[in-house]
Amino acid sequence: MYTRINSKQFMLKNLEFGGNNHIYIQSMCNTKTKNVKETVEQILELEQLGCEIIRVAVLDQEDALSISKIKNQIHIPLVADIHFDPELAIIAIQQGVDKIRLNPGNISNKEKIVEIVNMCKERNIPIRIGVNGGSLPKDIAKPTAEHMIEAARRHISILEELDFHNICLSLKCSNIDLTLEAYKLASETFPYPLHIGITEAGTSFKGLIKSSIGISKILDLGIGNTIRVSLTDDPKYEVIAAKEILKELHFKEDLPTLTSCPTCGRTAYNMIPIAKEIEEYLNFVNKKIHVAVMGCAVNGPGEAKEADLGVAGGNHEAILFKKGIIIRKIKEENILEELKKEIDLF
Ligand code: SF4
Repeated sequence: MYTRINSKQFMLKNLEFGGNNHIYIQSMCNTKTKNVKETVEQILELEQLGCEIIRVAVLDQEDALSISKIKNQIHIPLVADIHFDPELAIIAIQQGVDKIRLNPGNISNKEKIVEIVNMCKERNIPIRIGVNGGSLPKDIAKPTAEHMIEAARRHISILEELDFHNICLSLKCSNIDLTLEAYKLASETFPYPLHIGITEAGTSFKGLIKSSIGISKILDLGIGNTIRVSLTDDPKYEVIAAKEILKELHFKEDLPTLTSCPTCGRTAYNMIPIAKEIEEYLNFVNKKIHVAVMGCAVNGPGEAKEADLGVAGGNHEAILFKKGIIIRKIKEENILEELKKEIDLF
């Protein structure tokens, strides 16, 4: 079995990818790629949130020709997502893309595949093969794990025959059990790094629950070199969610944690909006800090004594505490400002 640790390693732009390197967070823009300004703005925000690899859809020449303009304004590896049209892959590569997602078995012109592979070899550009349970080849009727592996094998063997091995593989579907089975089988079959996720998982509420369960189970098998939490929402939630999953599973350490109580009849101030705003604020904080927002001064400091700092509400005021010890009182209207200041100072 090829686990994350012994999967094949190669460079993706400046990232050491695969093997015992850390698990990278990916997302995909939902802007039109040809709208360079909007796409760059979205990528820069995702970078700030912790996105490490970004994919854009390349549907036509204008999209493909936008790659270099986008690349020049961002800092993380840029992946071009291409279906069926080899010319778009060639343009994207000429434009300096860092990786392409392309299924060679879907391209009938073999000469074009050879041309793409040679260009990728010359420039050290990896190729991701993405098998999706919902769009298997016509002669493979039912999406089973074995059939997904068979589909992957067809694409992979085309690249291997051309002596190309900088391959990343994904085998996604929206069913957790099937996805898990497919990744398990893939890790027993192929030596390549795996990009994992549950596709078409749903919105940022139910989709997040499904993705968290699915991705955790796959990671638990020792599989997965890069993750995407697919959500029907602004991709920033994908990145935030991926960070949380990796942090909770101890794959990422230098990240903040927010503890907040569920509120109850003892809650003495308007706590929920404060907890939500602090959570949003912490999304942009890249350090290991444990912050608590608690509903009452009676139980709050004690229940959150592990926190580096926190607030607990009283009547029109809150107490600021550090490691369970009360430091000072804050007026209710100043809670956010004071807490953010303490987070910055930590
Ligand atoms: S900290 Fe206080 S307000 Fe929050 S759940 Fe516990 S008892 Fe209720």
